[in-house]
Amino acid sequence: LVKENGGDGCHRFDPGVIRHRELRLQMLGELSEAIRQDQLELHYQPQVQMADNAVIGAEALIRWRHPRRGLLSPGEFLPVVTGSELEVPMGQWVIRNALAQLDAWQQAGLNLQVSINISANHLMDPGFTDYLRSHLLDHPEMDPAMVTLEVLESTALDDMQRAGNVIGECRGMGFQVALDDFGTGYSSLTYFRALPIDLIKIDQSFIRNMMADTSDRAIVESVIFLAKQFRRPVLAEGVETLDHADVLRQMGCEQIQGYGIAKPLPAADFLHWLRDWRQRYPTPPQRR
Ligand code: C2E
Ligand code: MG
Ligand code: MG
Ligand code: MG
Repeated sequence: LVKENGGDGCHRFDPGVIRHRELRLQMLGELSEAIRQDQLELHYQPQVQMADNAVIGAEALIRWRHPRRGLLSPGEFLPVVTGSELEVPMGQWVIRNALAQLDAWQQAGLNLQVSINISANHLMDPGFTDYLRSHLLDHPEMDPAMVTLEVLESTALDDMQRAGNVIGECRGMGFQVALDDFGTGYSSLTYFRALPIDLIKIDQSFIRNMMADTSDRAIVESVIFLAKQFRRPVLAEGVETLDHADVLRQMGCEQIQGYGIAKPLPAADFLHWLRDWRQRYPTPPQRR
């Protein structure tokens, strides 16, 4: 059921490990129930285009409304899901629901795109592109260009060639692909060179520190410069203040996302927020 490290038998008598393993199994059981009982939710965080403050779309971020423990963030349960038999079904749940939201926005006449986080094992799962393709066939009204698949740069660690092929196949179907948390991997430049991607998301750690730390600022500047050479837009994550936004604008960063604009919101709240934002920053609804 769960991929374990070791498995040499020694751990069997360590009560701490047994407890850990029990908790993990218990959580996996609860999570598979959660998928069936609709306890999972996607919250949406707006992504804003610098040039005109237009909201171009939103990133879907998973939450678990636990019956006893309240709203859990992905950091509290994704580590248990990773490597388990739930990783693919949960990833499919996310894709299905995010695409349903995209459809609802489109029906409402909102020109928004949606960004979906794809886990490493899900991307490399042999059925991944088939799932996307069959979804496209079932929903011919869906425009894949309005969907960005966010792939962690560390995804490609094991098999860069294959990761590149899968990403290429997704783009061949018309999806956009973003490299998430850019700059946090061991060989970011190698990923950047090897992977055919449409957008770079600079990791929030660089943005957070860039006001105080001149080397982080230099890194942000360099990433934006590099991306421009390859004609790839850059999105800065973790934009918490107006100062961040101003500095990024001066650097030529195209898109921003962060608490400074809005936290991730349930779909209904996101719509209210969007209405207010568009009143404050009216723009023609023609994007990307
Ligand atoms: P990520 O994809 O890099 O998403 C950005 C994370 O930073 C989100 O945390 C978001 O709430 C948070 N964030 C956004 N703006 C700010 C800011 O201004 N300041 C700070 N301090 N944080 C900000 P969240 O929702 O807890 O998600 C954490 C990670 O979990 C995500 O990082 C992503 O890697 C993963 N994740 C979330 N949802 C999914 C999902 O549906 N599928 C998969 N495979 N992974 C997901
Ligand atoms: Mg992401
Ligand atoms: Mg990120
Ligand atoms: Mg992250």
